[in-house]
Amino acid sequence: MRIEIVAVGTELLLGQIADTNSQWMGEHLAAAGVASHFHQAVGDNQERMVLAFRTALARSDGVIVCGGLGPTHDDITREGIAEVMNVRLRRDEGGVERIRAMFSSRGREMPDTNLRQADVPEGASIIPQTKGTAPGLICPVGHKVVYAVPGVPYEMSDMFERGILPDLQRRMTERGESAGVIASRVIRTWGMSESGLAETLAGHIDDLEAAPSGPSMAGAGTSGSATIAFLASGIEGIKVRVTVRAADQDAASSLLDDQEAAIRRILYAQAGDVVFGVDDEAIEDAVARALAINGLTLGLAESLTGGLASSRLVNVPGASRWFRGSVVSYASQVKFSVLGVPEGPVVSEEAAGAMADGARRVLGSDVGLSTTGVAGPDTQDDQPPGTVHVGLAREGHPTESFSFNVPGDRDRVRQYATIAALDLLRRRLGSPTRD
Ligand code: ATP
Repeated sequence: MRIEIVAVGTELLLGQIADTNSQWMGEHLAAAGVASHFHQAVGDNQERMVLAFRTALARSDGVIVCGGLGPTHDDITREGIAEVMNVRLRRDEGGVERIRAMFSSRGREMPDTNLRQADVPEGASIIPQTKGTAPGLICPVGHKVVYAVPGVPYEMSDMFERGILPDLQRRMTERGESAGVIASRVIRTWGMSESGLAETLAGHIDDLEAAPSGPSMAGAGTSGSATIAFLASGIEGIKVRVTVRAADQDAASSLLDDQEAAIRRILYAQAGDVVFGVDDEAIEDAVARALAINGLTLGLAESLTGGLASSRLVNVPGASRWFRGSVVSYASQVKFSVLGVPEGPVVSEEAAGAMADGARRVLGSDVGLSTTGVAGPDTQDDQPPGTVHVGLAREGHPTESFSFNVPGDRDRVRQYATIAALDLLRRRLGSPTRD
């Protein structure tokens, strides 16, 4: 069963609000095993709304419309659906009473305009309202269906769970479809381009496409199938998203585990330790895990990143167990006097190494990590903006320094440098999630 979401509201088109309702419903439809191939947003205009509904009905088995069920003249979703169904609106007396009761329970007089919210296309049934004044609608259109729910997010989610999902599940059973679940996992990488990742995983993707159950997930197969997509996430690296369809959550989790292991194996063999986490895990979580597993504490000396790296690290709950602190040594004099960096150029590999040693000593940590470089917009010591030097000092190892260039304006350079430095540390400590 394929469902299309149509979000109604001119404010969505003007960019005044983000369409979080479609995001929420997309996630919950997938979790219920319902495929969704298209989402639309349309303004409060009946002609265009009707076009959107007809387009959706032509290519999907059902449509969920959210928004435009309010009491004012621009709330015309009911009229649009009635036009598509080719029926009139009738006033539902039970609905009128419910709205009247809602107003009186709040000690308020019901304005006549609210009566519109009890209008229902002939042949439609309602999803009673429990949180707002507008009921939801279940509108049969031939053998397909249009659902309508209010735009207010908590009213939408309540009606989706109470009214839409049970109806969808009943329809899927009638069609002989086993709903199953669609589940995704995101594998997060740093240090590879999107095209590089795609090339490295091309053989695996070809194998999946050749697999008997196919990668389209259009059918209701319960044997499980997987698709892979690449998502660039700006400075946070590239994500590899695996999506599977399976009979139930356990089967989906096990398929995702298999896929994650296979992808990690291929990437590790061909590109090294580029995977730093899954789903919501950020680079600082990976660093935290590596430090905790190795029983190490960390101290920072930040110049270029000015505290960004420490700010990210203290995002992690329990950071005080392994994070000693940071010396934000922005002025050269502070690098010399506090960290003991030898007098001389401070944007250099040598200075980065000395800063990392200094951080370990001053903060009493097992590991010292430092950043120095040129954020821009001007060059410094003949080095262009984007120049980054990272130092890493560990007990029992010679102090190391790394130099590289990152792109972007001042803000991006500092953000990139932060993630790159944390990633270097993660790799040196060994990524404990590695398969
Ligand atoms: P009600 O019947 O409760 O008045 P409605 O169906 O008329 O609701 P709208 O008037 O379209 O809903 O939207 C009400 C509010 O809900 C908007 O101002 C906005 O804050 C939020 N909203 C509407 N659509 C969306 C959406 N797609 N995603 C997130 N929020 C939304």
